Amino acid sequence: MTHRDQAHYPPVDAVRAGLRGRCPRCGDGKLFQGYLGLRPRCGACGLDYSFADAGDGPAVFVILLVGFVVVGLALWLEVSYSPALWVHFILWIPLIVVLSLVSLRLMKGVLITLQYKHKAQEGRIEGSE
Ligand SMILES: [Zn+2]
Repeated sequence: MTHRDQAHYPPVDAVRAGLRGRCPRCGDGKLFQGYLGLRPRCGACGLDYSFADAGDGPAVFVILLVGFVVVGLALWLEVSYSPALWVHFILWIPLIVVLSLVSLRLMKGVLITLQYKHKAQEGRIEGSE
């Protein structure tokens, strides 16, 4: 297994790599193991993922995003069709669950790749002195 220096990697689009759940350094190896668990390291370039700590960040974005989308849709439906209350429950509760589960993983991936990019840039500035 060859371990290449970080300088040899072409820049990876952090947002795209995060959305695809890929390694922030090589953009190739997988980031996740299971639903939200992280692998210990990248299978392609060997990057140690122990730096990654998104904390509660992903959940905050998910709440804002899903809340915005669902409230918007619910308002539109109510204004347009004024359905019975149970129609709202049947539509929005499953939608909230599905949207939250999907976007939570996407958000976590993006925040971790952005975190890596940010730290890598900081290290480069310090190292160039
Ligand atoms: Zn990698």
